[in-house]
Amino acid sequence: MPFKEHPHRRFNPLTGEWILVSPHRTKRPWQGQQEEPDRSVMPKFDPGCYLCPGNERAGGERNPEYSDTFVFTNDFAALLPEVSGLEFPDDDLLRAEPESGICRVICFSPRHDLSIARMSREQTVKVVELWISEFRELGAQDGVGYVQIFENRGSIMGCSNPHPHGQIWATRSVPMIPSLETERQADYLAGKGECLLCSYLKRELAEGERIVFQNDSFVALVPFWAVWPFEVMVLPREHMASLGEMNARTRGDLADAMIRLGIRYDNLFKTSFPYSMGVHQAPTDGRAHPEWHFHFHYYPPLLRSASVRKFMVGFEMLGMPQRDITAEHAAAALRELSEIHYLDEESA
Ligand SMILES: [Zn+2]
Ligand SMILES: [Zn+2]
Ligand SMILES: [Zn+2]
Repeated sequence: MPFKEHPHRRFNPLTGEWILVSPHRTKRPWQGQQEEPDRSVMPKFDPGCYLCPGNERAGGERNPEYSDTFVFTNDFAALLPEVSGLEFPDDDLLRAEPESGICRVICFSPRHDLSIARMSREQTVKVVELWISEFRELGAQDGVGYVQIFENRGSIMGCSNPHPHGQIWATRSVPMIPSLETERQADYLAGKGECLLCSYLKRELAEGERIVFQNDSFVALVPFWAVWPFEVMVLPREHMASLGEMNARTRGDLADAMIRLGIRYDNLFKTSFPYSMGVHQAPTDGRAHPEWHFHFHYYPPLLRSASVRKFMVGFEMLGMPQRDITAEHAAAALRELSEIHYLDEESA
């Protein structure tokens, strides 16, 4: 009997963590749509939205009448520029270090009612280009060791505003997860003489069962070690350390991959699909990073329907993450979905 039908644990080579897989608990891994499709209509412009063009933000500033993308420094930033003269405990048990940085917000579109799943390729390429210019500009600053670009979407992810937007947090130190991934990728390169994710991608393309879709430059797959039910990784086929290495063709292909994944996600439960997504790439700490292969992680919390989410509680809080539906089943479910958005299909 294949191991995949029995309880087992899987290793995440990017972080060194393990996940428990309990496939015998799902007798019917895919039950299809369980709830009515969400057809609620949002206005194209919301006078009360602090991200819509021309509106006033909580900090008192007014947004310009932007027509494609718009970036500003967060009015309520979690990080602040460096402050000198602070005293930190130098202690084994009570240890703290200074941290400084810059937090920015990027509006993906002036349209309040859109999301990447429903944006044009042209508009999505503008988001990718803004990410690249922000990554270059922030990464070049003294005291910025890492640029974390991410999007938090949906109220169950704690995102209070549906206006399509993402964030960039540029920090002095490399945050914990990219730092683990840096170490693991460097160890792999040193040990095997090849890139961890180039090797992994080759293996996934050969096996095929966890691939969701692909285009000329990117592959979307459910990683072997996925924790979240419909977790996806989007990887460039070519070895590139950061977004900054993309050319016009790969930027277009990235936009294509983001839109297609967004549509499949929305179609899964016929709802505006919540997730946290972001890119992991080489630190901007001034060192060479031949080990780094940039990639996107998509972490959606939904499990069986628009209202049934996965919780990380109990054994998962105290032991390790666990999943019932296997990565292979999740990939098959995502692969079967249409790439025409359910809202466009019904109005066509
Ligand atoms: Zn808005
Ligand atoms: Zn690589
Ligand atoms: Zn990563």
